[in-house]
Amino acid sequence: MTSAGALVCLAIMLSCGLGVYLRKRQIDNVSRHREVVPPDFAGEVTIDDHRRAADYTIARTRFGIVETTFDGLLSIAWLAIGLGPLYGLVAGLIEPGLTRSVVFVCLFTLIGHVLELPFSFLNAFWLEEKFGFNRLSPKTFFLDEAKSLALTAAIAVPALYAMFGLLRALPDSWWLVVWVGFMALTLAMTVIYPTVIAPMFNTFTPMAEGDAKSRMEALLKKCGFESRGLYVMDASTRSAHGNAYFSGFGKAKRIVFFDTLLEKHSLDEIESILAHELGHFKYGHVRQMILQAAVVAFLGFAVLYWAFSTGDFSAWFGLPNDPGLVLVAVMLAQEPVAHLLKPLLSSRSRKAEFEADDFARQIVGKEPMISALTRLTRDNLASLTPDPLYARFYFSHPPVPVRVAQLRSSG
Ligand SMILES: [Zn+2]
Repeated sequence: MTSAGALVCLAIMLSCGLGVYLRKRQIDNVSRHREVVPPDFAGEVTIDDHRRAADYTIARTRFGIVETTFDGLLSIAWLAIGLGPLYGLVAGLIEPGLTRSVVFVCLFTLIGHVLELPFSFLNAFWLEEKFGFNRLSPKTFFLDEAKSLALTAAIAVPALYAMFGLLRALPDSWWLVVWVGFMALTLAMTVIYPTVIAPMFNTFTPMAEGDAKSRMEALLKKCGFESRGLYVMDASTRSAHGNAYFSGFGKAKRIVFFDTLLEKHSLDEIESILAHELGHFKYGHVRQMILQAAVVAFLGFAVLYWAFSTGDFSAWFGLPNDPGLVLVAVMLAQEPVAHLLKPLLSSRSRKAEFEADDFARQIVGKEPMISALTRLTRDNLASLTPDPLYARFYFSHPPVPVRVAQLRSSG
């Protein structure tokens, strides 16, 4: 490994250290506030709920420290010692060509997936179980894993063949063509995911006729929203966490409520949650997210172009310049950059959440939104006292006390 390669490994180590430091801050801050419910929530959240939320947050964050450390060490181990021998193994079995590169990427991904499996298993059957959220059976867990692996292979294998093929045919412009293809796939996914992929894992039923549905439809009409309808997802088969989301694009848009959410919230609250989701639509947040993904992907493919064409990058780690190997090494080495970009991307996302909250306030008033947020926090055991720096770095949604304060102070 050259000094440039060693620098990449050092960057991964530092990024991992930063991740551990921020999580430690989060644990400290939550423990420090474990005994006092913030005054804004004193009426709705009991001290027992508050303590349980603290314990859950601390347990999750500790688990995150172990996972982050493991991931960082694993990436360094791959770059410094593992990739060469793994490539040697594949090269011994398959002659040079597209297939060798594709098989190498698939084998690497499969090994990574197997190494991550104990974490997902413990997350569901130890952590979530302990706090009463887990509804998965081991059978469903492994079935889900198998399905998502098969699905990843079905999409990734042809995509890798296409990319490595183009790399040969168009050595100078392949990355622009691949970028366009990637964005086309991303757009297609916004339609394919809700209609084809998500139903492979959950059952979606159109919302039953009744009070709830007629109020939601009236709200959609009031906001001039055209959609393929309101659906209820059987989230309760996997977890007790409640949520709602809005997916798709153009005519394929749909609003999905978790059954767990509908069970626990009043109609006013559900209405405010829908209004919040419509706010995301009104302000074009989905379009902004896709645009953001386009910029990130463009930069990513430009880096890959540089790494493939010069051969410098693989030389940093003393590796042969095979496209499959370079792709994997770039994926491992980009982690510190992605980590440092996180606060930027999450601050954009938090801004969007404020806008959506404000839209909901204008449509249904602030009270239902405040009570929905309070109930969501309480039921999901989210901490009311996260560390501000940790939240700034990682939170895609502003902490609920901040959202509530913002709602109270406006209008
Ligand atoms: Zn939102």
